Amino acid sequence: MSDNPTLLDIDPSKLTIVRAEPHVLKTIPPPETWVFGQSGSTDHMLIIEHDPEMGWSAPVIKPYSPLTLDPASSVFHYATAVFEGMKAFRGPDDKPTLFRPEMNMDRFAMSAERIALPPFNKDALLALIKQLVLVDERWIPSRTGYSMYVRPVYIGTRPTVGVQASTHGMIFVIMSPTGPYFPTGFKPISLMARHDFVRAWPGGTGEYKLALNYAPTFKPQQEAASQGYQQILWLLGDERRVTEVGQMNFFVVLKRSDGEIDLITPALDGTILPGVTRDCILSLAGTHVPDASSPSSLSTSTRPIPRLHPQERQFTISDIVSWLEQGVLLEAFGTGTASIICPVSKIGWEGKDLILPEYEEGVGPVSKALWERIVEIQEGRRESEWSVKCE
Ligand SMILES: *Cc1c(COP(=O)(O)O)cnc(C)c1O
Repeated sequence: MSDNPTLLDIDPSKLTIVRAEPHVLKTIPPPETWVFGQSGSTDHMLIIEHDPEMGWSAPVIKPYSPLTLDPASSVFHYATAVFEGMKAFRGPDDKPTLFRPEMNMDRFAMSAERIALPPFNKDALLALIKQLVLVDERWIPSRTGYSMYVRPVYIGTRPTVGVQASTHGMIFVIMSPTGPYFPTGFKPISLMARHDFVRAWPGGTGEYKLALNYAPTFKPQQEAASQGYQQILWLLGDERRVTEVGQMNFFVVLKRSDGEIDLITPALDGTILPGVTRDCILSLAGTHVPDASSPSSLSTSTRPIPRLHPQERQFTISDIVSWLEQGVLLEAFGTGTASIICPVSKIGWEGKDLILPEYEEGVGPVSKALWERIVEIQEGRRESEWSVKCE
């Protein structure tokens, strides 16, 4: 994959695995106590390094430990850092699986390319991540809602402060146990719509998972929290286009005059992160048929789901206001690997709260049916090529 054919690419056959001594293996905390992103790390990590003379080093899986980096490393000065997030599950046959990991690898490579980090072989990296998952597979409980979060990171390690592309790089992958995002049932979140803080803009980097896109969101996020809202609804431009919510893609569910349903999310125009979950929702909605006997039919125990018309197109906060006035906006939700689907209850905008319809279980029927189908596939209760075995 490298432009220079004399450089070594990532080679999984050169993998060394240094296992943690049995007496230093961590005690896995009780799953009931796991909080998403805050339950520490598993026992091992994967590291591969790139230098401009040799190319990629032999990969190593070793006990989780601090990194030692030159203080002049590119990442500390110019934010040459990209990341990914995906989950490993345990299938009914007890074998660990990953969910659509090739999509994460494609995005990881595109993000790296955007900040001119040295290229790498995506298939080779995925093969190594599967080995890492297998080494720490005892961390994946076989109970529904629980998984192991996998966090690949790629940083520039060029050890000089000159302002230029990092010719040196390090890919590392760490993992942490994770429990259900909504342990006690769906809890819809409140959003504060903002146009003055901008997450991503035309010609910018919003469609890549670059670390530099996230730091500037923490201050507005804190401000929203101090006013009682859980996430920001990011608006863009004079027309106040809706883009994303927090670090999730955003969907609205609209009732059509023919009784069918429009499921709309902003188009991938460069300001929107191409989420794996977003892609799943669009695809499941597109293949859903209202006939409950069809295997691709989505349903909940309580009600059938009408035909869904997935659409990727622009809409604005004024559209949301008018859809609510007309009574056609049924559901709105964010999507991402962490929660899969995160229902929205209200949106603070221009000093008022736009109130979304309320549902008994905290989630609307369309959101619920989509969520259920994705979880079934992830946990291997339904056959799908989206679920990929680690072997
Ligand atoms: C990661 C991310 C998402 C969700 O992507 P998934 O692949 O579904 O997890 C959405 N928006 C932003 C800004 C993100 O960083």
